[in-house]
Amino acid sequence: MRFITEKERQTPVLDETDVLVVGSGPGGLAAAIAAARTGVKTCLVERYGCFGGNMTVVGVESLAWYRHEKTIDSEGIGIEFETRAAAMGATAKEVQSDSQALNTELFKHVADVLVTESGAIPLLHCYGVEPVLEGDTIRGVVTESKSGRQAILAKVVIDATGDADIAFRAGAPCTVSPLPERQAVTLVFSCCGVNRKEFMNYIESDPATYGDWGEDWAQQTSGLENDMFSPYFQKQFDRAIQEKIITQTDWDLCGSWSTITEDGQATYMNLVHLGNVDITDIRDLTRAEMDGRAQVLEAIKAMNHTIPGFEKAKLRNFAMTLGTRDSRKIIGEYDLTGNDVLNEARFDDSVGVFPEFVDGFGVLRLPVTGRYFQVPYRSILPKKIENLLVAGRAIAGDPISHAATRNMMCCAVSGQGAGVAAAVAVKTGTTCHGVSIAEIQKTLAAQNVRCHY
Ligand SMILES: Cc1cc2nc3c(=O)[nH]c(=O)nc-3n(C[C@H](O)[C@H](O)[C@H](O)COP(=O)(O)OP(=O)(O)OC[C@H]3O[C@@H](n4cnc5c(N)ncnc54)[C@H](O)[C@@H]3O)c2cc1C
Repeated sequence: MRFITEKERQTPVLDETDVLVVGSGPGGLAAAIAAARTGVKTCLVERYGCFGGNMTVVGVESLAWYRHEKTIDSEGIGIEFETRAAAMGATAKEVQSDSQALNTELFKHVADVLVTESGAIPLLHCYGVEPVLEGDTIRGVVTESKSGRQAILAKVVIDATGDADIAFRAGAPCTVSPLPERQAVTLVFSCCGVNRKEFMNYIESDPATYGDWGEDWAQQTSGLENDMFSPYFQKQFDRAIQEKIITQTDWDLCGSWSTITEDGQATYMNLVHLGNVDITDIRDLTRAEMDGRAQVLEAIKAMNHTIPGFEKAKLRNFAMTLGTRDSRKIIGEYDLTGNDVLNEARFDDSVGVFPEFVDGFGVLRLPVTGRYFQVPYRSILPKKIENLLVAGRAIAGDPISHAATRNMMCCAVSGQGAGVAAAVAVKTGTTCHGVSIAEIQKTLAAQNVRCHY
């Protein structure tokens, strides 16, 4: 590889803050809102033009599709995403659970309102590119935007980029699953022109179940999930291949549909998956976006032929960007394990709970019996770098624990934990490694989060 040497330069300081959150998915949004609500100065930086991460730019609407009668759910800002969106007319009944599906377009505005009310200082179209370090302590982040290269200095930085961009560049130890084992990326899309009545009649006459996932994705379940309804398509694509409507047999076309509006829009189609994509490699990203779009159009062609009600369905839109499930994760002061999330782990330094909902790496477990685990503060605390926390899907853990903690409600749990911990560290003049767990849990309780049941 060739290199060039860039000129040394003076970088203007755009702002100085107590807490800086980089990335605004469910993790970063919850972190910024939680920190700002304690009264510390908080900046929230997001590379795209709206907050919400996968909830808005990818269009993932099913925030709590795991929830059933006996589920013991998380508390806090993640639930507020759902209830506030519902109050603002930005949800519809989720098709498989006791929860609300987000209207992911309107949620952009809901997120604006939540951020504004919290007092956090928003910066959209702003990319966090480089940590500012003094030894092993982070002091801020250099950003790039239409305003140029600018620094934001902070007492605590929360990396909520989903990909641990800041932690990795700061030299915090990170891990990532080998490429062939990494979860696929998905190009989500939506359709218009669906005949809802015909489609729902078809689904009622021949409903799919979670047991059907096993045929393509080899899922291990607890057995309780197998006969439950799942909004799942697979045999429809198998038939399209048999009938040569799709000629490409190595594509991974299957997955879930979600809200079908009264006026015939299928708003969240999670059906086109691309494997072997390293989303930290710009060439892989480019290829996957372009291949994804071509595959979506073929998927719609297949659905026109094999799904009653979809005969006249057309593309409404591609998601603004590919959706990532799995990339870098930090090595934390504690790395969660599959054993923890499947066996109701309890931790003295819990920052919140998440139900036993595991979806990925060959395991599907729905929280139908009220089981849950606790998320430890140490899993959001990276090794080596001081005053840096991580929120969302990049927190420390093995693949099976990731299949639980990557879920948006759990990202909000780690996010709120990180936001509150950062604020407590600032207010008490301590470091993120030295901060009082009791104080964090007390502040979380004041924000209506129970860390222990
Ligand atoms: C297709 C698909 C379907 C899914 N379905 C579900 C589901 O049904 N239910 C569920 O709970 N979960 C689901 N997930 C998982 C879930 O969406 C993610 O794990 C979750 O959104 C991760 O949240 P996060 O806050 O860590 O990161 P993200 O949601 O990825 O947000 C990261 C944010 O940081 C920003 N960012 C990144 N880098 C930078 C940077 N350097 N500077 C500034 N900003 C930056 C991004 O633009 C983004 O806004 C799905 C995921 C995918 C891809």
